[in-house]
Amino acid sequence: MVSLRETFATSILTPQNFGALSASYDFTINPYAGCAFGCSYCYVPKFPNARHLPSEWGKWVEVKVNAPELLHRDRQKAFGSRIFFSSATDPYQYLELKYRLSRRCLQQLIEYPPAKLTMHTRSHLMLQDIDLLKAFGNKLSVGVSFTTDDESVRKEFEPDAPSLKRRLELIRKLREHNIAVYASIAPLLPCDPERLYRLLSPFIDKAWVDTMHWTEANTNPWLLKKYEQFFAPSQYQQITKDLRSKFSLDAKRQASEATFANKKQSADVTDIQLCRQLKIL
Ligand code: SF4
Repeated sequence: MVSLRETFATSILTPQNFGALSASYDFTINPYAGCAFGCSYCYVPKFPNARHLPSEWGKWVEVKVNAPELLHRDRQKAFGSRIFFSSATDPYQYLELKYRLSRRCLQQLIEYPPAKLTMHTRSHLMLQDIDLLKAFGNKLSVGVSFTTDDESVRKEFEPDAPSLKRRLELIRKLREHNIAVYASIAPLLPCDPERLYRLLSPFIDKAWVDTMHWTEANTNPWLLKKYEQFFAPSQYQQITKDLRSKFSLDAKRQASEATFANKKQSADVTDIQLCRQLKIL
């Protein structure tokens, strides 16, 4: 059971003056605090400013009910800026069906468009806003978290998040609408790396591959034990490195050869068969 609290925030554009996102973004937008997807490896509860967590991570969400109005108030700051949406929650967790805060924030941003907008999610609910998203044209890219090719592993580490099937559907639909999409394989979870690569590569522009951090604070430490062979440091680093390099070669090839449309057509029969074999399609 997730506990819910409606709050009135004082600001919605969080300046990125330091930290990992600061080189590429001016602001983040998080219409919710907390996240009902509750991934066991989530880095958000490890933030220094997260010490006030009301209860176990994944079991509470604060809804910033005035997020769109705050964005309207700060529209001059948003206009022409670089925005990451969202860094500390999933903007399309299921509560979005009720509150539509992400949707209403996007409606504000369309009026006063940023120079660059990156949306990040694990959720197919984003498809409900596809028309709005398309309106941002090439200012927009979407990151979809896709951390393994194995649905049983997904269920263990991300039990309350959408299935891999839903996420693949999201990626494919975004591509159909010519929206730039990348896979966020971070953290890389136990998987068949070759299969994961073959599954994603026909549908994405690039991938971000990273290892799991803050293992000491994982909310399900028994999973790390269960998969200790996969997470053995030298092997884990090597798999991550190899996968990163495969996707980065792909991205280079794409940049030299092709447009988005060409890539989309390259999702050939073999790829579709692989998806079916994995019961992802
Ligand atoms: S979806 Fe993102 S913010 Fe939510 S719990 Fe998972 S990793 Fe954390």
